[in-house]
Amino acid sequence: MSINAEHLSCVGNVYNGIEILSFTGRKSVGKKSIKMRVMCDAKCHCDKIFNTDFQNLRGGGIKSCGCQRKGNHKHGNTRNKIYNSWRGMKERCLNPNNMHYENYGGRGIRICDEWLNASNFIAWALKNGYKEGLTVDRINNDGNYEPSNCRWTTHGEQAKNRRETKNKTSGVCGIYRDARDKSVRYRPYIFANGKNIWLGGYATLDEAIAVRESAEKKYWNKE
Ligand SMILES: [Zn+2]
Repeated sequence: MSINAEHLSCVGNVYNGIEILSFTGRKSVGKKSIKMRVMCDAKCHCDKIFNTDFQNLRGGGIKSCGCQRKGNHKHGNTRNKIYNSWRGMKERCLNPNNMHYENYGGRGIRICDEWLNASNFIAWALKNGYKEGLTVDRINNDGNYEPSNCRWTTHGEQAKNRRETKNKTSGVCGIYRDARDKSVRYRPYIFANGKNIWLGGYATLDEAIAVRESAEKKYWNKE
């Protein structure tokens, strides 16, 4: 038995004040009779994120991340801060009622499938330079939230990055407008494999958009 739809439908449920965030897989427990337990990341009422046994949590056997016993939250704080960053990213890209949606989801900025799961995002952050006070930044401001296009920077660095890219766009994601030469005015590019890949020059925006879209399929596996 693996993680199934019934488990997934429990994401967001709250048991004893502990919210299920995502399922992380199965783990064997016990010495005599080994049982495969379904494991999940959950958010404790103290705000700490921890990995726990789903059935035990649902059954009421788990009342906290351990904070009620130990009173120690230090370790959970980092994961919790990254989680809040993840939640902000999701709000900006996926919630049309969010005040920042227009500049993110509303103009086609997406979150890669891997990062729709908070645990994957937290794991990436911990391995890729997350420090307290830093925020997740897209290297190419027209690109998506995905490992190849993101890094942890200060707000100041982000603003600089945005100013530099702002004047070079055609108004369409991933298409540079070249003011010098009419015959190659629109130059589509795509961020993949850690760099911008240039896709030629076209006289019309429509041609450039078509080329950019086929590149998205090729490099980002978009349908
Ligand atoms: Zn706790």
